[in-house]
Amino acid sequence: MRILVTGGAGFIGSHLCKRLIENGDEIICLDNLFTGSKENIYPLMDYKNFEFVRHDVTKEYMAEVDQIYHLACPASVPHYQYNPVKTMKTAVVGAVNMLGLAKRIKARILQASTSEVYGNPLVHPQTEEYWGNVNPVGPRSCYDEGKRAAETLFFDYHRQNAVDIKVIRIFNTYGPNMALNDGRVISNFIIQALQNQDITIYGDGLQTRSFQYVDDLIEAMVRMMNSRKEFVGPVNLGNPREFTIRELAEKVIQMTGSPSKIVYRDLPQDDPIQRKPDISLAQRELKWSPKVALDEGLAKTIAYFRNVLHINEPVPGGEDGY
Ligand code: NAD
Ligand code: UDP
Repeated sequence: MRILVTGGAGFIGSHLCKRLIENGDEIICLDNLFTGSKENIYPLMDYKNFEFVRHDVTKEYMAEVDQIYHLACPASVPHYQYNPVKTMKTAVVGAVNMLGLAKRIKARILQASTSEVYGNPLVHPQTEEYWGNVNPVGPRSCYDEGKRAAETLFFDYHRQNAVDIKVIRIFNTYGPNMALNDGRVISNFIIQALQNQDITIYGDGLQTRSFQYVDDLIEAMVRMMNSRKEFVGPVNLGNPREFTIRELAEKVIQMTGSPSKIVYRDLPQDDPIQRKPDISLAQRELKWSPKVALDEGLAKTIAYFRNVLHINEPVPGGEDGY
């Protein structure tokens, strides 16, 4: 099969490309490298069935493919707030361009939507039926409302033009290939711990998130893309085990053996207080449940950042031992 992956040089996209290459599919990875990187896809360049195209999804693109995974969009809070107007254009115009392509070439298209469509949720855990509690004019709105508008476009192209769509709502996902300057909580805490810097908790640290390891997400994405045609979603994909941010900080300190201290900073505006997916729909339809516990996923992610930052593991009893 020929498959287009937009945002393929990013964190999730690079894992997805790898998985699809290993399936034997022909992959076009399209990315403008705004938050993604060539490092993420260097290991994939050797494969004959992988091709990288530098392109911005706010401009039209043409290719003959059977499936499109549409991931292109900055995803971390500092990245999507860097140029909010561009974020909104990427989310909305990018969706129009990719849906137009899917319509012309009759490809199936999957949208990487987000738990942010629920905003600061008043229903807990979040089910797909919940319409959310989103500020339309705040600093997170460019992303949240952009992704909500993109979902609307997907469903309208589906109803109006019979485009074969799939919509997934991804909850906080982590793992190797997250950018060093990403600013998301897991990469921040690990990098701070490995560099013996203060661990920055925003607010009191009692807000919650549910963290999904990237391998679990990739499995679910591929299952969703290849699920029965009538099942279009939206479907939540996440790990329902919920942690406070303070618990996460303590876990990272303990697992890295770091002397770092926790410091408290202001909570950013509109930061959701709680988040946890109800995944019964994904379990029923995709026969999928996340398998990787936080400790196991963190260990792999810590090992990745140690390698990228050239920080050796401490030797028990050694000079830098604990
Ligand atoms: P990422 O920033 O690592 O990847 C996004 C990729 O899109 C990058 O490679 C970036 O260069 C590319 N991109 C951005 N704007 C583009 C444009 N205009 N044209 C072409 N390429 C562009 O982030 P990620 O975590 O891998 O997220 C991938 C997708 O998953 C995003 O759509 C994001 O909204 C969604 N998502 C991620 C999470 C998560 O926890 N990681 C949660 C919910 C949703
Ligand atoms: N957070 C934090 N310290 C950091 C980065 C993030 O305490 O260095 C908090 C952030 O305020 C939020 C949670 O961790 O409450 C998750 O943040 P992230 O940006 O990873 O994801 P999102 O808010 O988009 O779910």
